[in-house]
Amino acid sequence: MKYNVIHRGDDISIQLMHSFHRLIGQYGLVHEEEHPDVVLSIGGDGTLLHAFHQYKEQLETIAFVGIHTGRLGFFADWKPDEVELLAELMGEAAQQNDLRVVKYPLVEIQITTAQGIETQLALNEFTLKGVDATLVAQLHINDELLETFRGDGICISTPAGSTAYNKSLGGAIVHPSLDAIQIAEIASINNRVFRTLGSPIILPKHHHCDMYPRANQNILLSLDHVYTQRNDILSIRSMVAAGKKVKFARFRPFPFWSRVREAFIGYEPLGENKS
Ligand code: NAD
Repeated sequence: MKYNVIHRGDDISIQLMHSFHRLIGQYGLVHEEEHPDVVLSIGGDGTLLHAFHQYKEQLETIAFVGIHTGRLGFFADWKPDEVELLAELMGEAAQQNDLRVVKYPLVEIQITTAQGIETQLALNEFTLKGVDATLVAQLHINDELLETFRGDGICISTPAGSTAYNKSLGGAIVHPSLDAIQIAEIASINNRVFRTLGSPIILPKHHHCDMYPRANQNILLSLDHVYTQRNDILSIRSMVAAGKKVKFARFRPFPFWSRVREAFIGYEPLGENKS
């Protein structure tokens, strides 16, 4: 089994990377940057998002795992003092040729410009915002007009990303076993003149959402942590990516809902009367 490490660049992450190389070497794993089987991200969730985008052409063959060196991350769910355990479990998985993975759906977006169609993938979400004015965009679901949106922007997230930006927008947390995407509004304008649905909506796979921004608007587009400013977009189609998922290596059980509790609630044992 071949592995690579992507780190945040701070001293703690670099030290942990050196420890991991030393520990994992004992199990015969080979360090390989071009075509690894496992990518270990050391840093935060943002580091794992970087790793995902670096290797997004090889999602079929790569599984990701993350150690957090700051606060507990959602993707980066191993603690720095567990690096030895992680190396041991990864080493055993390699020796037994038994790498367990969970697969999470992704969002695919197709951006149409006068030049053609570009396809992109996101692990958490993509967002569309106005740069210097309110975003105005028509929103169609499965080729039928739903609304004309006016406001700060629109966020389209994956189930994995439902706990990220989407959660701050009042979107629902969606279990990643569901092949779905969620559309959440960012500060829509609602008054007697302008109206939007106002609720986040969840689309199953095979449904699609098209957004048609008003012509010549300056648009800020984000794909996870990557932001670009554009004024050439005619429309954007988003849907659950067909046949493409991200794989996370699971060397121990850590159910999604436990991760939700640990990330957002913490451990609060109930009192004796459980009130
Ligand atoms: P970052 O690494 O500082 O991430 C921002 C925060 O989002 C961190 O606390 C991180 O742990 C958390 N996060 C990222 N992915 C998560 C997930 N799937 N579930 C739960 N928490 C998650 O900043 P970055 O590197 O620029 O990361 C980009 C991400 O930041 C975006 O994908 C977006 O989801 C998130 N973001 C959130 C807000 C918001 O909540 N208002 C605004 C912008 C971006």
